[in-house]
Amino acid sequence: MKKHPFLSVVVALIFLGLPFAQSFGQGPAISADAALKALKEGNQRYVEAKQTHPNAGKDRRTATTVNGQAPFASILSCSDSRVPVEIIFDQGIGDLFVVRVAGNQANVIETASLEFGTAHLGTPLILVMGHTHCGAVVAAIQTVENKADAPALLKSIVPAVTQAKKNEPGSSGEGLVKAATEANVWQAIADLFKSSPTISEKVKAGKLKIQGAVYNIETGKVNWMGPHPKQDELLSSK
Ligand SMILES: [Zn+2]
Repeated sequence: MKKHPFLSVVVALIFLGLPFAQSFGQGPAISADAALKALKEGNQRYVEAKQTHPNAGKDRRTATTVNGQAPFASILSCSDSRVPVEIIFDQGIGDLFVVRVAGNQANVIETASLEFGTAHLGTPLILVMGHTHCGAVVAAIQTVENKADAPALLKSIVPAVTQAKKNEPGSSGEGLVKAATEANVWQAIADLFKSSPTISEKVKAGKLKIQGAVYNIETGKVNWMGPHPKQDELLSSK
């Protein structure tokens, strides 16, 4: 029987120990900039109610089951039910590798999940996305203002509140929530750099970009914040 060349390649890749999802040449053929552009365009369609609802049907389910997944971006977002990630970016099945946790914090499991997204699935972009009216951020502010002990859920957000108060002394109410929400996005990105050599090395090598954003739950619009303002400093201290 004639040996099928495709099968030989697959068998060779499996013996090389590559993850099964990659043995079919997975990993999106897309740059970080193109991934970011696709997210921006998807959010624009959503805001204008001009969604195309891509990759949502049976064909896509079948294709991603047979061929594996190759999402083009990883996203760390809040669990808040008003932040449905695929919907707000007008994306479908197999498009986004999404990690959701209250307050979009990057603790051990979230960081490991994002490492999987970038190292094994090959996503060239990680977007850390906070949102307006985030209950976790508001609770962290109350914890700081009451000088109370932070419960486990808020421990990683408290430093962001402290930073926001330092950056904008005297701020309160909505102004403080906005500043703390943005500081919390930077906090999560800094935590990723701090705890993940995998992620730091990829960013240093230009193989991965990490950007911040805040989603407005009322307008549906994403405010794009770009990379961490101290990214070079954070990476050079590694
Ligand atoms: Zn939230």
